[in-house]
Amino acid sequence: MVPWASPEFDSHEHVCAFFDPRSGLRAIVAMHSLALGPAAGGTRFWPYPSDDLALADALRLSRAMSYKCALAGVPLGGGKATIIGDPRKDKNEALLKTYGHFLNRIGNQFSTGEDVGMSVADCEIIRTVSPFVAGTRSSGAGDPSLHAALGVFYGIRAVLECHFNRDDYDGVRFAVQGVGNVGMKLCRLLHEAGADLTVSDIASENAKECSERFSARVVDPDVIHAVNADVFVPCALGGVINARTVGSIRARAIAGAANNQLESAAVGAQLHSRGILFAPDYVINAGGLIGAAEELARMPGRNFSISGTIEVRLQRIHDRLIEIFDLAESTRETPELTAERMARDILCANQASIRPDFTCTRK
Ligand code: NAD
Repeated sequence: MVPWASPEFDSHEHVCAFFDPRSGLRAIVAMHSLALGPAAGGTRFWPYPSDDLALADALRLSRAMSYKCALAGVPLGGGKATIIGDPRKDKNEALLKTYGHFLNRIGNQFSTGEDVGMSVADCEIIRTVSPFVAGTRSSGAGDPSLHAALGVFYGIRAVLECHFNRDDYDGVRFAVQGVGNVGMKLCRLLHEAGADLTVSDIASENAKECSERFSARVVDPDVIHAVNADVFVPCALGGVINARTVGSIRARAIAGAANNQLESAAVGAQLHSRGILFAPDYVINAGGLIGAAEELARMPGRNFSISGTIEVRLQRIHDRLIEIFDLAESTRETPELTAERMARDILCANQASIRPDFTCTRK
C-alpha cells in the first residue's frame, strides 16, 4: 500500500521504507508534522502480521507524537518508526547497526529511541553508528520509561482532582494492564503513595514480580479492563479500549501510558456518555519525551534549548490535563477531541506558511 492510501495517512510530510536483504531489516519511518522542529519518536520492533499494519501503526503513532510534542511544549515534530519482525528472534547487532545507517541517511530530520520491543541496550548499539538515537546511557537521559512512569503518576493526580475530588492516591484502586518498563515503575510509585493495585501481564513473571514487590493482586489479562477499580491504567499495547471491552469497563477513569488506547472515536464517545473520564494518552505519557528533550536538543541540526528542571517539566503534564479536562467539560466534548484540537491549533499556527494544506481538523 502506498502511504497516502492508508486511512491513517493524515497528510504526513514524509514516509521512508527501508529493506536490507542481508540483515533482514524491514523498517518504516513516518514523519507526520515537522512544523515545530525535526521529528522525534521511538522505534517499535513488533511481529506485525502484515506490512500494511506496520505502516498504519507508524503513521498513527507519529501523528500522536506530533500532538505529544505540541502539548508538552517540546519544539520537535512527530515521528515514529516500526521494524517488522519478532524482537526475540530477529533482533541482532547487525540489523540494529544497519538500521542506524538508515537513520543517518534520513539525517537530522528524524531521531529515535526506545519503544515496545526495543531496549536501552539496543539503542546503545544503534548509537555506535548514528547520533540520531536518544535514551542511551552514554549520551543522555537513559531509560525513558522512568520519566514516562513519573509523568503518568502526575497525570493521574489531575484525574483524581478533576473526577474524584481528591489529590492523594491513598486507597485508590488501580487496575494496571501491562507491568513492563513503564507499568512496573508506575506500580512502585502508586504503591508508595498508598494505592491498592490489581495487575495483569501476559508475561506471568512480570505480574508475579509486581505482586511480590507491591502487594498487587494478579488477574488474567482477559479481565483486567473489567476489574472493579477506580482507575483503569493501560500500560501495554494500543487499541485496548475497543468495541469488545468498552461496555465492561467498571472504572470511573482511564489513565495510562499505552499509546493509542482508543480503538476509535466512537469508543471514546461511549466512555464519555458513561461518565468515564479518559486522559488522552499522548498527553499523560509525554514524560519519556520530556525527559529526553535536553538530549534531543543537543543532536545535530537542532537549535533549541530546554529550561526548567525535569521535575518541573513533568509536573506540567498534570497542569495540561487539568486545562484539557476543564475545557472539555465547558464545551461538552470528549477530552481526546479537546486535546486533538488544541494540538492541531498549535501545529497549524506554526506551519501555515509551509503547509497551507494542513488542516486544524483531521482529514
Ligand atoms: P514494555 O514492552 O516494557 O511493557 C509492556 C508490557 O505489557 C509487557 O510486560 C508485556 O508482556 C505486557 N503486555 C502486552 N500485551 C498485554 C496484554 N494484552 N495484557 C497484559 N499485558 C500485556 O513496554 P513499555 O515501555 O512499558 O511501554 C508500555 C506502553 O507505554 C506502550 O504502549 C508504549 O508505546 C507506551 N509508552 C512507553 C514509553 C516508554 O518510555 N517506554 C513512553 C511513552 C509511552
